[in-house]
Amino acid sequence: MRMGTKRLAALAVSAALCGSAFAAMTDGTYTGEGKGRNGTITVEVTVKAGKLDAVKVVKHTETVGISDAAVADFPKAIVAAQSTAVDAVAGATMTSEGIRAAVAQAIQKAGGDPAQFATAVVKKKAAKKLVKENADIVVVGAGGSGISAAVKAETLGANVILIEKMPVIGGATALNAGTLIATGSKYQREVMKETKDSPELAYKDIFTVGKNRNDPTLVKMVTERVGGVVDWLIYDMKILMVLPPRSIRTTPPTVSSA
Ligand SMILES: Cc1cc2nc3c(=O)[nH]c(=O)nc-3n(C[C@H](O)[C@H](O)[C@H](O)COP(=O)(O)OP(=O)(O)OC[C@H]3O[C@@H](n4cnc5c(N)ncnc54)[C@H](O)[C@@H]3O)c2cc1C
Repeated sequence: MRMGTKRLAALAVSAALCGSAFAAMTDGTYTGEGKGRNGTITVEVTVKAGKLDAVKVVKHTETVGISDAAVADFPKAIVAAQSTAVDAVAGATMTSEGIRAAVAQAIQKAGGDPAQFATAVVKKKAAKKLVKENADIVVVGAGGSGISAAVKAETLGANVILIEKMPVIGGATALNAGTLIATGSKYQREVMKETKDSPELAYKDIFTVGKNRNDPTLVKMVTERVGGVVDWLIYDMKILMVLPPRSIRTTPPTVSSA
């Protein structure tokens, strides 16, 4: 008799579990919202045959350059795994979390149970593969310095490999406020008509801003060499410069040879 009661209770529990496990989604396209790093992220989730058929970020204000990989790849990973419990994209975890929450909301709107679509994803360990490459120079880190070094070496004829550990290149350089010291450049002298600046003044400035905690060797190197780098970026690499007050150069200015 006691056994019978237990069995009944077990059946009731399993029926309840089955009931929630089969909370089927209705086919269609649903929107969901989640909180990202900078604001609301809106996704569009398409349900087909009760499955996540497509996930697309349709609106967001996340930081361009930082969030790109998460916006492009995280939705695809959710669809591939049929789960929101996939790994966040390194370097853009807040964007990933926003997308995750937005998809969960859309699943709910579709009549599904978000928990049912949040099962841990067991990843098969990929077999280790040794890739052999030859290069004259290997640059580690694709921020402004690494990219510049790699490009310069390549233009001088070297065979270069540039390695970046993150899913997107750019590093802290992608967060840069957009200003650059132009001390000692032809551009500063001839286009900006600034003739009073000097490496010595820039050195003093940097130490003031850095509250005298800067490394003198590095600051000296920056202030003496940055002019050449600025000219290389503008005249050789044709990098667009924006001059105050908003006069935008689309082609490098003509300069006299030094
Ligand atoms: C918010 C902010 C605003 C700024 N504004 C300005 C500004 O207005 N003007 C200005 O002149 N400077 C500014 N700076 C400073 C300037 O952006 C940095 O000095 C410059 O970007 C540093 O460039 P970097 O290439 O040396 O380093 P990073 O840009 O940080 O690049 C380093 C790269 O190396 C990668 N890496 C690290 N370890 C490994 C590894 N083991 N294997 C592979 N890859 C690796 C990193 O992921 C990264 O991509 C600003 C910085 C910040 C954070």
